[in-house]
Amino acid sequence: MIVHDVVVVGAGLAGMSCALETLRSGVKDVALISKVHPVRSHSGAAQGGIAAALGNSAEDSPEVHGFDTVKGGDYLSDQDAAAILCESAPEMIYRLEHMGVVFSRMADGRIAQRAFGGHTNPRACFSADRTGFAVLHGLFEQVVKHKVTVYSEWYLLSLVVEDRQARGVVVMNIDTGEIEVIRAKAVMFGTGGCGRAFKITTNAFASTGDGLIAAYRAGIPAEDMEFMQFHPTGLYRHGILASEALRGEGAYLTNGSGERFMERYAKERMELAPRDIVARAEQTEIDEGRGGEEDKGAVYLDLRHLGRERIMERLPQVHQLTLDFLGVDMVTDPMPIQPTAHYTMGGIPTDNWGQVVYDEQNTPLVGFFAAGECACVSVHGANRLGTNSLLEACVFGTRTGSAVARYVTGAHADGGGGVAALESTRQEAVEYVERRRAMDGPERLADIRTELKDVMMRKCGVFRTEKDLESLVGELAELRARYERAAIEDRSKRFNTELLEAIEMDHLLETSSIIVGGALARQESRGGHARKDFPKRDDVNWLKHTLAYRTEDGTPELRFKPVKITKYEPQERKY
Ligand SMILES: Cc1cc2nc3c(=O)[nH]c(=O)nc-3n(C[C@H](O)[C@H](O)[C@H](O)COP(=O)(O)OP(=O)(O)OC[C@H]3O[C@@H](n4cnc5c(N)ncnc54)[C@H](O)[C@@H]3O)c2cc1C
Repeated sequence: MIVHDVVVVGAGLAGMSCALETLRSGVKDVALISKVHPVRSHSGAAQGGIAAALGNSAEDSPEVHGFDTVKGGDYLSDQDAAAILCESAPEMIYRLEHMGVVFSRMADGRIAQRAFGGHTNPRACFSADRTGFAVLHGLFEQVVKHKVTVYSEWYLLSLVVEDRQARGVVVMNIDTGEIEVIRAKAVMFGTGGCGRAFKITTNAFASTGDGLIAAYRAGIPAEDMEFMQFHPTGLYRHGILASEALRGEGAYLTNGSGERFMERYAKERMELAPRDIVARAEQTEIDEGRGGEEDKGAVYLDLRHLGRERIMERLPQVHQLTLDFLGVDMVTDPMPIQPTAHYTMGGIPTDNWGQVVYDEQNTPLVGFFAAGECACVSVHGANRLGTNSLLEACVFGTRTGSAVARYVTGAHADGGGGVAALESTRQEAVEYVERRRAMDGPERLADIRTELKDVMMRKCGVFRTEKDLESLVGELAELRARYERAAIEDRSKRFNTELLEAIEMDHLLETSSIIVGGALARQESRGGHARKDFPKRDDVNWLKHTLAYRTEDGTPELRFKPVKITKYEPQERKY
């Protein structure tokens, strides 16, 4: 058995921020686990920026940032958490800069800031269009410098909970295939989102909801999972992100006839309305036959008026991606785009210190913490504003680190218990993995994966209806049954990626059933959850969070938790 004081699973911005702050707060023995090398964590794909009301380009304040966040979230955000996020933002940017993160500058040397959807003022700090990459590398340098123990390419299988207390994790060393137990006084998850459940997505192969499912299977509910963000600008048919920074820099959205259609949906903010509104506008244009390309399935981003110099200075990566994947040079031609599954607003419920809570009364699951995209604190409510996620991962990752340190150095942390639970959970994980390795039925995993992603995109995408969601429940059950009759060919132990993909499909099937369960229950339209049969927001019945619990037969059961409203009474959203 491996033993550490603290084990952090996930080496994106949330996990690394937590690990570094835990060390800084005096805990010496912190382990960081990641199924990919830390700098391949998905945070590195973030392009457009990280929000903070620095006020460099226009007068700004954390108060306005906070209001924008709550309004953008369609009033489902917990307002105390949103205030913490926005008040902590300026200090976080300077802290990152002092760690060596290089931000793009204005002519006078101050940090440059650009506009983003739903933000009243330009407040996205950025490193060209490679912001996540810059921050991820900055944090990893610190991880190396401070000698955090890194388990790179180790795979989380289970969270061990005994007597409502986290005792450690069961992990697989991907290189050897050995399954190990890591005992720890505190466990933290920063395991990212689950966008891979959808056919068109910006998310990396690793975004399969593993941490969320490990927690769910250990009895912790999943909060607000019906809120999946569809980003308006994915490269047509690929889903790869064309950052909102393009619109921040001034790009137009046009339909198949070249019309700037946002005038009909958000007259004031136009292209810079929040993502849920823009994605619905695009999908409406496409569904009503006003799209472009052969099948009329795309709309366009037009940057030609910005000129080559600005595009190459501010957006070089997206320029190259568009050239590589679509063969379109955005300097000279409009680029075809479509909505793409992007961000998981829901997740493992936590309090404002990253302490995981498991019921309507916010009772803590002792010794278990989470932050970043796998968690739901909930700052983003029903719809995240662009650039608030990198910020959330850093701010709440760091706060969680200090809470972990307080817990581990406090009187109640118990590093000695749980041996029986650790061993029995390990044994269950060994049996589970062996069952997967022995899969030998007539079905192909690749077919099941393709069908899952296709059906989730079509029936639980930008627009949803009861009819579609109900039929989806049946289809997911069928896919689950077929999954249990599927085969894998590689039965080896070392670096068996086919086995890992089979495990991840299990996670995606379960995640999908949670998303669909919430989407079916929530009979209103709010933020990223748009029901054609219930087109209005319903604050009387639905101004509340959903908590999905796993039942015996694996289906989710919903309970509800109130939204924390401190300053801003819900109003109609107008942009
Ligand atoms: C293309 C793209 C562009 C984006 N641009 C922006 C932007 O400009 N601004 C912004 O604010 N947000 C942006 N976002 C969102 C933002 O990047 C993410 O929400 C954020 O980086 C998530 O960070 P995280 O630390 O929570 O998770 P991640 O960075 O996803 O890290 C997850 C970690 O968990 C590990 N992990 C997962 N499962 C396991 C397992 N089973 N075992 C072991 N380890 C595991 C992974 O290896 C990884 O280290 C963008 C997202 C995408 C997809």
